Amino acid sequence: ATPTAIAVATGKAAEENILIKNPEALEYANRLNYVVFDKTGTLTYGQPMVKKMEVFSGCSEEEAIFFAASAEKNSEHPFGKALVEFARKRGLKVEEPDEFYYLPGKGVVAQLKGKEVLVGNRRFMEEAGLALDEFERFLSEGNIEGISYVLVAVDGRLCSAFWFEDKVKEEALEVLQILKKKGIKVGLLTGDAWQTAKEVAKKLEVDEVWAEVLPQEKALKIEELREKGNIVSMVGDGVNDAPALAKAHLGVAIGSGTEVASATADLILIKNDLRDLLKALRLAEITYKKIK
Ligand code: ADP
Ligand code: MG
Repeated sequence: ATPTAIAVATGKAAEENILIKNPEALEYANRLNYVVFDKTGTLTYGQPMVKKMEVFSGCSEEEAIFFAASAEKNSEHPFGKALVEFARKRGLKVEEPDEFYYLPGKGVVAQLKGKEVLVGNRRFMEEAGLALDEFERFLSEGNIEGISYVLVAVDGRLCSAFWFEDKVKEEALEVLQILKKKGIKVGLLTGDAWQTAKEVAKKLEVDEVWAEVLPQEKALKIEELREKGNIVSMVGDGVNDAPALAKAHLGVAIGSGTEVASATADLILIKNDLRDLLKALRLAEITYKKIK
């Protein structure tokens, strides 16, 4: 493409709240045959709300909420924000943790009141060597459906579990169907649990789904698809998507998201609307057809 054509495209895109950071990657937009989407915050609104909680022996409800929300006080993750919001709604205090680490795709570790608090998924808890018998028993009694959850541990003991409700974006199904009509395969790639992932995948009729993947594994999956000869776009919103965005032919960051995701993307959709991906593809089509 000529510099002028690209300048025109970039300007038009900006009017539509689309930032083209790497114009060269835009050329791939015309040849895509695979678009892989992150789930939380990308296909879903990423504004989950706590729907249910359960405490285990030795933990009170107030303690559980205090530790979970305070540990996540500085978290950018949708689940973390939901926990903070939950505590605020209940009028419970949220404290600044003395230390805070985020382990993308797993959870957080924080020091609070001299205690070590972990908030994260099951794999994370298992890796930390936590006994999950009580939680297993709770699950086996059929107490919940396939919705996302995190576990909370305080000083090496399981304290509680929180379940979230996150809605699929209203435009998601339509956008995916339009892509499929263009002959583009759509995939779902998430760090969340298989059960939750499968439910969203079914709702949106995606071609392939991969769940419980860590950020680096997300990148490997993209690499694998490339090696099979696909021209791949990855669409994601979080730090956990950054490695995969960097690996894709066309990395697309969506929503306000995180700075890390935006920094590694070729294209940024500023509004949290999946239809803007179609707009960007159309723009690429026009831009590159004219110049040939
Ligand atoms: P996705 O790929 O769906 O955007 P992530 O990779 O961000 O999901 O997270 C994968 C899983 O790791 C989440 O479903 C959650 O169980 C856990 N997790 C990640 N970050 C956090 C956090 N800040 N607090 C609690 N759990 C987290
Ligand atoms: Mg996400």
